[in-house]
Amino acid sequence: MPSVVSHAVVAVAAGVTFAPRNVPHHFWSLALICSMIPDADIIAFSFGIPYQHLFGHRGFFHSPFFGLLMGLFIVSVFFRDSEIFSSQWFFYLIFFFLLSASHGVLDAFTNGGLGIALLSPFDKTRYFFPWRPIVVSPIGVALFFSKWGLAVIKSELLWVWLPSFLMVMVSAVIRFVAGRYQQSI
Ligand SMILES: [Zn+2]
Repeated sequence: MPSVVSHAVVAVAAGVTFAPRNVPHHFWSLALICSMIPDADIIAFSFGIPYQHLFGHRGFFHSPFFGLLMGLFIVSVFFRDSEIFSSQWFFYLIFFFLLSASHGVLDAFTNGGLGIALLSPFDKTRYFFPWRPIVVSPIGVALFFSKWGLAVIKSELLWVWLPSFLMVMVSAVIRFVAGRYQQSI
């Protein structure tokens, strides 16, 4: 996995880029949870569930299908004020779906561990992308404070933080230009 902090960076950048200005406060905490929650599946190791199992690490809980369930759950429980099938309802559903799904997709760019069950639960195959520039993060805190940890941080800054920052900057420029254009007509 990229470290959970980098998944959280994606959540904040996606929220700043795509969310309307008037989202409630809990939108942000839910965004952080969605981006990080797939890694809660490391608990499976302590229950003796093997890595390659459907519910093992990087299995079902890293799939876009689970992301869709997360999106449906969140919009149904935490955004009940949004009228069902309204544009706001669809925004929350798609946002939390894609954000949860982004976790497994990002992990598929890492260079270690088993692949990601991106088609779970329909297909147990574990996938990686052919190009994997992100150094896989060690499981456990102790190993993170090592040469390995430093390599992880460097690769995540380049391949996760920088693109996230650029996305925020580009959207800010587009908003600024659109605002000026609207003022001028
Ligand atoms: Zn992960």
